[in-house]
Amino acid sequence: MIILSGGTGTPKLLSGLKRIIPEESIAVIVNTAEDRWISGNLVCPDIDTVLYTFTDLIDEDKWWGIKGDTFYTHESLKKLGFHELMRLGDQDRALHILRSELLRDGFTLTQSIDELRCSFRIDARILPMSDDPLATMILTPEGEVHFQDFWIKRQGKPKVLGVRFDGLDKAEPTPEVINALNCEDSVIIGPSNPITSIGPILGLKGMRSILQKKKVIAISPIVEGKPVSGPAAKLMNAMGYEVSSVGVAQCYADFLDVLVVDRKEDCILPDVSVLKTDIMMGSLERSIQLAKFIVDSV
Ligand code: GDP
Repeated sequence: MIILSGGTGTPKLLSGLKRIIPEESIAVIVNTAEDRWISGNLVCPDIDTVLYTFTDLIDEDKWWGIKGDTFYTHESLKKLGFHELMRLGDQDRALHILRSELLRDGFTLTQSIDELRCSFRIDARILPMSDDPLATMILTPEGEVHFQDFWIKRQGKPKVLGVRFDGLDKAEPTPEVINALNCEDSVIIGPSNPITSIGPILGLKGMRSILQKKKVIAISPIVEGKPVSGPAAKLMNAMGYEVSSVGVAQCYADFLDVLVVDRKEDCILPDVSVLKTDIMMGSLERSIQLAKFIVDSV
């Protein structure tokens, strides 16, 4: 089973999925456009959440970082007068240091993540969408800022006028991503933000035409008219999409076959089968239930 993922909604689904099907049968293609070098190391928020989800280390209160982590290095940097953009935990930072050392030694991002996957003894394939550098840029009334500056430094408050993926015109999906897609007839798009989590994956060269040849099943990240977390509403509005499952379907209009929506939602789509179930994953049990529903629907 192959799944396109960001860093919160889809990992919640993966936490259920890995408990009901063999891990080695799962391949996850993960967004890298929110990656950022911070304090000398490359932080990959979405990939790291997926790694920590498969190891059960993930802090499920925030869906980033390691549960029970300490923040001594971050606090020490602050005392020295350095205000780090992200509040990085010590164990989490160890992973960033190792990945960055591998990259400095000439590994591709894909190879570095595979090393980490092996160290963690994860059997699922965790595939960065691209090895090329990419950055999500948010256009605000004060100018264009990196996604992390918008979301963390400015707490998602500025008005969003537009979204641009710097580097996307030259970025290619990795051969590992293409091979994984070639092995499957169906593709799952997890309940992730369609603009800044799934959008960059879809923007990679050839990706949409590959998906047009597959059965594509997406799970809506919109529940009761709003996103469960994160800036999806603001971003969908800015890009001219309605904040609803209909709007999500419009983001995927050229290849979507099935959309899974909240059982209370009225959602009629002309060329897409709509399946209704509980899509809110407030607990592991709910994640497992939704994962079972998806496995049965593929
Ligand atoms: P991030 O933006 O990088 O943190 O990662 P994602 O794009 O994967 O996650 C954010 C999206 O996940 C938001 O649009 C949420 O609405 C969606 N989401 C979070 N929790 C849930 C859930 O329990 N159910 C569903 N259906 N969507 C969820």
